[in-house]
Amino acid sequence: MLETTIEKLSNKKCTGCGACFNKCPVSAIKMEYDTEGFLFPKVNSEKCIQCGLCQKVCPELQIEKTVQMIHPEGKCYAVMADDEIRLVSSSGGMFTLLAEYVLEQGGVVCGATYSDDYMTVKHILVSDKKELTRLRGSKYVQSQIGTVYQEIKNELNKKRIVLFVGCPCQVAGLYSYLGKDIPGLFTADLVCHAANSVTAYQSFIKEMAKGRVITEVNFRDKSVYGWSTPTTISFQDGTVSNEAWNQSKWYSGFLGGIINRKCCSTCRYAQRMRIGDLTLGDFWQVHRWDKTCNDWKGTSLVLVNSKKGKELFRAVKNRMKLCKEAPLDFAVQYNGQLVRPNKAHPGRRFFFHHLPKDGYHKSLWYGQKWRYDVGLVGWWFAANYGSVMTYFALGKILEDMDLLAIMIPIPKVDRQGWEPITEKNIEFMKKYFPIANKRPIEKIDECNRFCDSFMVGSDQLWVQSYVPLVGYTFFLDFVDPNKKKIAYATSLGREEYSGSMEDKTLARAFLKQFDYISVRESSGVEICKKSFGLDAVRMLDPVFLCQTKYYDELADQAKISIKGNYLLCYILDPSSEKERAVEYLESKLNLKAYVIFDMKTFEKSKKTWSMDNVLENVRIEDFLALIKNCSYLLSDSHHGVCFGLIYHKDFICIANRARGYTRFESLFNLLNIREHMVENPLEILDHPSLLKSIDYVKVDHILKGEKKRSLNWLKNALNAPKNEKYDWDTRLLVKYHNMLKKQNEGIKKMKLILKELDNEEG
Ligand SMILES: Cc1cc2nc3c(=O)[nH]c(=O)nc-3n(C[C@H](O)[C@H](O)[C@H](O)COP(=O)(O)OP(=O)(O)OC[C@H]3O[C@@H](n4cnc5c(N)ncnc54)[C@H](O)[C@@H]3O)c2cc1C
Repeated sequence: MLETTIEKLSNKKCTGCGACFNKCPVSAIKMEYDTEGFLFPKVNSEKCIQCGLCQKVCPELQIEKTVQMIHPEGKCYAVMADDEIRLVSSSGGMFTLLAEYVLEQGGVVCGATYSDDYMTVKHILVSDKKELTRLRGSKYVQSQIGTVYQEIKNELNKKRIVLFVGCPCQVAGLYSYLGKDIPGLFTADLVCHAANSVTAYQSFIKEMAKGRVITEVNFRDKSVYGWSTPTTISFQDGTVSNEAWNQSKWYSGFLGGIINRKCCSTCRYAQRMRIGDLTLGDFWQVHRWDKTCNDWKGTSLVLVNSKKGKELFRAVKNRMKLCKEAPLDFAVQYNGQLVRPNKAHPGRRFFFHHLPKDGYHKSLWYGQKWRYDVGLVGWWFAANYGSVMTYFALGKILEDMDLLAIMIPIPKVDRQGWEPITEKNIEFMKKYFPIANKRPIEKIDECNRFCDSFMVGSDQLWVQSYVPLVGYTFFLDFVDPNKKKIAYATSLGREEYSGSMEDKTLARAFLKQFDYISVRESSGVEICKKSFGLDAVRMLDPVFLCQTKYYDELADQAKISIKGNYLLCYILDPSSEKERAVEYLESKLNLKAYVIFDMKTFEKSKKTWSMDNVLENVRIEDFLALIKNCSYLLSDSHHGVCFGLIYHKDFICIANRARGYTRFESLFNLLNIREHMVENPLEILDHPSLLKSIDYVKVDHILKGEKKRSLNWLKNALNAPKNEKYDWDTRLLVKYHNMLKKQNEGIKKMKLILKELDNEEG
């Protein structure tokens, strides 16, 4: 469906113009609101006849055709209608002059009106001057096009003239729907700042009303502040709320790019060359060019773009109180959307994330403040399927808890980059979570500016041998003392924390600054007690806490699929013994084996592996799908086994001492499945009993309880206030360390500068 229908168009590009909806010959397309409150086409696959018309009329999918519709730059005018018209119009009343003329010729006018309860805005056709009141006034919320393109076509077929006024993307939608410019049709596009969310608007209006019945909404009321952009809302009980533009929270969201439709920030119509026959806008600051053009009652900016535009402009010229040609170069200085789209605010996603539960005003505050609830620190980008998946899982768990998380890139002490393969993992994560900018180690503390708390995830992080590589970043040494620090199911990997007394003292000092600590292995609890004097609790690896539907969604995007039954071998550290085990299982289970190697050591592993069954270019999505669909699993990876358990696979695990034995031991003991684990791969050949099926009723029962306990712990750690236990000794130590770190960095920088100077002199 995606490829052959309008659903091919990305949500970032769809303007919601409704051309596809109007065109569909079998009414298979509906315009539906998304969670942000913008209309998007939805195709009913049962009704769809795959005719492809919806793609053919889409101005965004047929970009070349759309570009041809844009007129060369036209003349620019400052225009005023009579005072009575201007008083009820947004700008200089140009719309009314055009509309009245068209109606007098027996034509119809199409523009935007509020619904009776002021909760939505939609385009309608009118043929009576009295109805122009409904169309006048800018409604700063996206208007629903409905079926007006079809209605316009009917009117044109009847040889009536039609004036269509709307945002430029709506004018493009109309032309695309009609397929050509039809005689009798006149269009006026509006200089458009952006189209705003209906859901945001409804929430705003309701919060302003505080239970009162709304009798009018006017974003261009001239009665109090003159020609400006106030927000006036009148209520049935006679009360009126009237806020100037700089007080109105609606305009903060609108002009600030927080509540705009996504595509508006890349709008191709925000330029001097226009799509409509005419363009209407406000001639802001026109008095700076010519004082006689501004009496503060409103001046229209009118661009005459086409032959038809000229014709219509000439026809209404004698109705104008003022008409003066003006330089477009001057106009664009005070009307940015004549040269570029309005930028999206970085906090836009925060606003929409909070909107459903917090309402307009509070969400606006979140959007403007734009802070993340949690900064996630760890090996989320590492060249290892398991590492990436633990952070994917953590990110999704937080998302399900309605918290916004951001992945923090980890800098290397030596300022070198990570292996090229990590870039692919970063790209993968980018599709699902925000990722902070890369920063050198001395600047990583800038992340305090946009994160309310920090969490280290559940990979091997507190390992002394990583300190020379990444410093004490995994111990959150860069985090401000007033921020909450949480460790969720962190692994210490080995049996103990190696390193000198000093190393341990420093690590202890950092860990004591944590508010909540949980570790992944039982041995981790002991190490924390023995080496650091800390009471940590053991929690389940996050991959077990994340909803399986998210893994399924990833697996659905896999590009590698194997037909029929197969044995999947996910091998991190290949050896001839493991090859023998694979061969044995192949013949014993009568399954063909396929091998996935570790991302990081793929080339090396492939060279040492003599069998011809290695899968290449296995993406994260493939990794999941291959486990999900296999008939049997063999793995020396902890996370390989975890996903085997999630997908109820029968498996044998080869516990991998080189990568930390405790993680296997801890998990297998917990789930009572020790009989499915071996240390030496050759044991598999001697113990056919290893092949017996895993009792998933029992495993799931344990996992269910563990999952509940772990989620509760995590929720509490995230929601509870910061642990305000001050330990001044360790604080001082941390401060001293950070001071030294800064000094060392300073010295390093000085050395670099001196070296550069030396080179220059040389
Ligand atoms: C969302 C939006 C953003 C705008 N941004 C700018 C801007 O950045 N700079 C600028 O100079 N001008 C902007 N305008 C245009 C400006 O606000 C006036 O609409 C325009 O100058 C016409 O004023 P008027 O006095 O001739 O018409 P009025 O008599 O006030 O009539 C307004 C016209 O706009 C149409 N209209 C009203 N609301 C909508 C809507 N939601 N969608 C489509 N059409 C609508 C009506 O049908 C009517 O034809 C914007 C308008 C809208 C609707």
